[in-house]
Amino acid sequence: MFVFTRETVFSDATLGQKVCFGAGEAARFLREVVAELGAERVMVIASGSQREVACRIAADVPVAAWHDEVRMHVPKDVADRARDVASEVAADAVVSVGGGSATGLAKAVALKHKIPVIAVPTTFSGSEATAMWGETSEGRKVTGVDEAVRPFAVIYDAKLLAGLPVELAVSSCLNAVAHCVDSMWAPRANPLNQAIAIEGLRALTESIPRIVSSRAGLGADAEADTDAGVPDVGALGQALYGAYLAGVAFASAGSGLHHKLCHVIGGAFDTPHALTHATVLPYVLAFNAPAVPDVAARLAGALGGDASADDPAAEAVDALLRLYERVDAQTGLAGQDANGRSSNKQGFDAAGVDRAVELAWGAIPEGNPREVTQDSLRGLLLRVAEGA
Ligand code: NAD
Repeated sequence: MFVFTRETVFSDATLGQKVCFGAGEAARFLREVVAELGAERVMVIASGSQREVACRIAADVPVAAWHDEVRMHVPKDVADRARDVASEVAADAVVSVGGGSATGLAKAVALKHKIPVIAVPTTFSGSEATAMWGETSEGRKVTGVDEAVRPFAVIYDAKLLAGLPVELAVSSCLNAVAHCVDSMWAPRANPLNQAIAIEGLRALTESIPRIVSSRAGLGADAEADTDAGVPDVGALGQALYGAYLAGVAFASAGSGLHHKLCHVIGGAFDTPHALTHATVLPYVLAFNAPAVPDVAARLAGALGGDASADDPAAEAVDALLRLYERVDAQTGLAGQDANGRSSNKQGFDAAGVDRAVELAWGAIPEGNPREVTQDSLRGLLLRVAEGA
């Protein structure tokens, strides 16, 4: 629990956003939200892998355009083509069915056309809770904040995640874990968004191992496995709940040290988004936690560790690493392409540390609990690069 003192001063704005939860209920919710908006010319964005799902859940809404060109980090030419389609059909709402990349493209359309977004997430990215947009042009990602892009409504249907490959589910969930942890010391952290982050972290810590243990029912190998169980839809729903709270906390508290470093590494070395967050998190936690023992104790407790341990920072890091071990988390950024596959690309390794320090130095968030010097930043990034 946050402990108030005479010095506690903060202001907060919570989200004005409709959120619907229900396994198997996406089509009904979507019909209702579209009717509530009075939308008559809906543009549906869904990447190839999610197209069939999108067709099913949007069967009863007036669709004016189906759009399936979705790419990670919203390249500008991809965004321009989607915006052109929205103009051509005079779209009055945009529905995204997919992960953060599909949501991001819908946001790019909303940014220009000021039409409402309805997000139907199929990963745990949390983008649906934020007013943050991003666009990539000539290798540089530009981001901004605009209320026009925050989805009017979010529809969570855990059944839509039943086919998410387990490695992707784990790294996406750990990205949500990172949102929760980083929100605790981000520039606008306050007792309200910290409480949301801690509840999100509890939900994720509890659900990720359940998702993994039902892995026989997840991913492409599911049908081939005669002992295949059914995907644990309850655990997927619990993780979606945690991921939403993570997104809300992140939207409210802003980007902390972890997010800023991941942004630099992902942008400069083209490493996969969720895997980058999962890999960097333990290092930033170990770096910051000793400076904020109260926060560390709350994190340790939410991560399933001992909140009253003598050394709460060490306990928080250990609890996080125990979670990683339980769920067999993939980490490491050397030799990874942007889709998280091993490749002959360099990824982020020791050779990239100087460049990362240079890029990150101007991006250190104000008020980070531990002072960041060029040396300590280099040490932190070197540990990430070497997996130390
Ligand atoms: P993603 O949307 O690129 O999806 C990863 C892969 O999973 C894709 O190949 C996709 O087709 C596939 N996939 C998605 N759902 C699936 C499902 N249910 N079953 C099977 N396959 C599925 O990845 P992501 O991690 O969700 O999103 C990453 C992007 O989101 C990045 O560009 C990141 O910057 C952005 N993001 C933005 C914010 C924000 O606030 N603006 C927050 C978080 C992430």
